[in-house]
Amino acid sequence: MAAEIRLFTCLSDNFGYLVHDTETGATASIDAPEAGPIIAALEREGWKLTDILVTHHHGDHVGGVAELKQKYACRVVAPHDANAKIALVDLRVQEGDTVKVGALAARVLETPGHTLDHVSYVFDEARALFAADTLFSIGCGRVFEGTYPMMWESLLKLRALPDDYRLYCGHEYTVANVKFALTIEPDNAALLTRARQVEDQREAGQPTVPTLLGDEKKANVFLRADVPEVAAAVGLAGNSAAEVFGEIRERKNNA
Ligand code: ZN
Ligand code: FE
Repeated sequence: MAAEIRLFTCLSDNFGYLVHDTETGATASIDAPEAGPIIAALEREGWKLTDILVTHHHGDHVGGVAELKQKYACRVVAPHDANAKIALVDLRVQEGDTVKVGALAARVLETPGHTLDHVSYVFDEARALFAADTLFSIGCGRVFEGTYPMMWESLLKLRALPDDYRLYCGHEYTVANVKFALTIEPDNAALLTRARQVEDQREAGQPTVPTLLGDEKKANVFLRADVPEVAAAVGLAGNSAAEVFGEIRERKNNA
């Protein structure tokens, strides 16, 4: 059993992702920012869409759902949400659920904060984490609906995954994220290494994603709010990690 993953750009800075099960031919799109690039990627590969795994209700993650469902009669999987903001859902999932994509299994982790309904999908066999707008490379999502402590808990949940898992995030924001992270941790060796790598990737016209979770843990300041040096760098030595996280997020909002 093997998973093949394809990534491509949607809209201006969203990532589209296909996860394909070579055994059964099942193919999932992680979110659906817009139908066109997803259909193009499917046709390039000769794959048929069987599932859409939605992470949260924002338009840049569900905009293509209706057209794709119409074209492929695929199953739409989305977070359990009492307000049911997402349309055309066939299966609602919550923490601890496992979704099958053919023979592949995706675990559902609730990661609220950016929105209250946000979930992340973990394919353990493929060692892949699809974290959408909760965790970016060297960044994290804006906290629109939740609270800073809630978002920090969500990041801790993702940080607890193994170092060799790859992070596939929702947006290509890495250049700006690196620039901001360096204002807080200018001497972080892992961050400086990542900064050079990102520069090379952008120069070569390549995406900066996926990255290894182990590298993110060392270089992503938003995953490091409980590191004493980071707390001190934002003038909050001795404060709780959630407070330090909130301060870092505020600074990024105003950057
Ligand atoms: Zn979003
Ligand atoms: Fe988004």
